[in-house]
Amino acid sequence: MVDLSKFIREIPDYPKPGILFRDITPMLADPEALAAAAKAMAEPYVGEKIDIVAAAEARGFIFAAPLAIQLGAGFVPIRKPGKLPFDLHSFAYELEYGTDELQIHVDGVKPGQRVLLIDDLLATGGTMEACCRLLERCDAEIVGCSFLIHLAQLGGEDRLNPYKCHSVLTYD
Ligand code: 5GP
Repeated sequence: MVDLSKFIREIPDYPKPGILFRDITPMLADPEALAAAAKAMAEPYVGEKIDIVAAAEARGFIFAAPLAIQLGAGFVPIRKPGKLPFDLHSFAYELEYGTDELQIHVDGVKPGQRVLLIDDLLATGGTMEACCRLLERCDAEIVGCSFLIHLAQLGGEDRLNPYKCHSVLTYD
């Protein structure tokens, strides 16, 4: 069993003073750790009917395709403005300074399709909440949200209530 925590590098004061950034690139570069991470993120959903795995750019994309393949699902991208070419649902959300926006194709997910949302890391939950709102606009059924890392003190899980969250590594 691979100890994934050994592959997460902590970078103090990145991208701003006071932030301890969890750098997953050492884990991505290790073949066994990468495979173990994707397997552990998918694990609670194996055997469930999942139609679509959806994820926001950029780090969410890294895990989305391997999870979709493991779960027998398709992949739908959620992107920043200006990247998707067809008709869109958009959701703007607050950041510490300013706002950000995510978008999904209106026909990316069909009404009633069962969707697993994923990202590399859950912090405040703002990014994943925006993803949930976009999937709600598609009338999708959100099966849950799966993360590699959960920073538990930032309240992200509460923000995603009532959706079920699964995380492989939790930091207090
Ligand atoms: P939230 O919206 O939950 O506050 O932040 C989560 C999003 O920001 C994720 O999409 C994630 O990729 C990125 N993020 C925030 N902090 C970190 C971090 O320490 N490490 C990594 N790898 N991503 C982070």
